[in-house]
Amino acid sequence: MVVEIRGPGIVPGCDGLILPGGESTTISRHLARTGVGEEIRAAAGSGVPVMATCAGLIVISEEIVEETRFVPLGLLKVRVGRNAFGSQKESFEADIEVKGFASPYRGVFIRAPAIVGWSRDVEVLAKIDDAAVAVRQSRLLGLAFHPELTADGRFHDIFLGMIREVKTDVGDRR
Ligand code: GLN
Repeated sequence: MVVEIRGPGIVPGCDGLILPGGESTTISRHLARTGVGEEIRAAAGSGVPVMATCAGLIVISEEIVEETRFVPLGLLKVRVGRNAFGSQKESFEADIEVKGFASPYRGVFIRAPAIVGWSRDVEVLAKIDDAAVAVRQSRLLGLAFHPELTADGRFHDIFLGMIREVKTDVGDRR
C-alpha cells in the first residue's frame, strides 16, 4: 500500500520512504515544523530504505553548497548544489550510463541539484561530467532527476529490492 505523508504518525509504520521533488525549502520547513523530519531520521537510522529525488535529495543531504534557510536532514553523506544545472528554463533530459544497468537511462532533470562531493560510504551510480546524479549509501538512494516521469522503472526496482532485502532479513535492520 502507498500512502501520502502529510503529518506525523505515519512514517513509523512504513517499510520504505520516498522523498519526492518539489521545493526543498518548503519541504524542509514542513518536516521540521511537523516533526516528520525526525521520524524520517529515526526510520532511516533503523534501516528503512529511503529513495529521495531532486528536492528530496537536497533535503536528506548532509551539506548544501549555497546558503539556505533550512538545515538538511544529514542522512546522505553528500554535498549538493541546488539548481546546479540552471533555472527552470534549463531543465533537460539526458541519457545517462548507470552502474549495473545494461542500457542507458533517460533522466528528466527539472531545476535539478547535482552532487558535487561525497563520502567514501557513498557509491556513485551515475554522473554527468564531474557531478554525481545518482548515488547509493547503504539503503539510501539519492537521485537528482525525476524517475516518476518516465516509464523506466529501474530505479524503483532498486528501491523495492532494498525493501525486500529488509523484509527477508529482519534480524539485520541496518
Ligand atoms: N531546485 C529545487 C529545490 O531547490 C528542486 C527542484 C525539483 O525538485 N524538481 O528545491
